[in-house]
Amino acid sequence: MRKRKGGEKMSQLAESKGIILFSRNYKEKDKLVKIFTESAGKMMFYVKGIHRQNQPLAPALLPFTEAVYIGTFKNEGLSFIKSVKNIHPFRKIQEDIFLSGYGTYLLNLVDAAIEDHQYDPTLFQFTQLALQKMDEEDDPQIITNIFEVQLLQRFGIAPIWTHCVVCGKKRGKFDYSSKFGGILCEEHWSMDLRRYHADPRAVYFVRLFSSISYDKINAINLKEETKASIRQLIDQLYEEYVGIHLKSKKFIDQMKSWEHVLKRPVTNEKSTENKKKE
Ligand SMILES: [Zn+2]
Repeated sequence: MRKRKGGEKMSQLAESKGIILFSRNYKEKDKLVKIFTESAGKMMFYVKGIHRQNQPLAPALLPFTEAVYIGTFKNEGLSFIKSVKNIHPFRKIQEDIFLSGYGTYLLNLVDAAIEDHQYDPTLFQFTQLALQKMDEEDDPQIITNIFEVQLLQRFGIAPIWTHCVVCGKKRGKFDYSSKFGGILCEEHWSMDLRRYHADPRAVYFVRLFSSISYDKINAINLKEETKASIRQLIDQLYEEYVGIHLKSKKFIDQMKSWEHVLKRPVTNEKSTENKKKE
């Protein structure tokens, strides 16, 4: 869908699928909107008159929205949107305060992990799928944890999860060692006294999360206790290797203390399943 006005010299229009990362008001009536585009990476767009009534672009610029954005994509400075098609809102995430908490954190991580304008269609699709799964009400904590573990690579870290870094063993109890940049089997724990001392169950799941695809997560059901030790292990990894402190992360951590007040009760069916599976 490329428009060309007769004879008029204009910069070329580009189009790409994109996911809204965030937006903020700019001057009185305008907005700056950051979009992760599939074909040109993250870009900041300048949108004029967004608060006007009947601004046709408005629904495509809401948080947790995916669409095809058509406009002038600039390598530097601000880009502009001319039109939009195939708008897909992630409605459940938009409407649920818990899901938006997790969703915001994922998008903040994406924003922190790669530079603007960096072409990364793999990360784009991974982000899209994570949001889609969250929107389909798969477990947002598991989705988030998988995202965090697999995103480590974008921060330049590639821990060895597949086998004990000393003997190559693949089964059994493991712990994480920063000294070795990977996991140690129980037999070799003594080689690093400052290993993480993580819950072996947490290490088991983080190993699984490091290579799992989102299509297979339906089969995973975790007890709260296991989730908490996975959280702790990933926090330790992020603290050591990534060192960013996002407000949205703080928010989901604090959410734990008040979510029971607001959360819809889980159906009986699902809670028995939870117990059975683990
Ligand atoms: Zn070993």
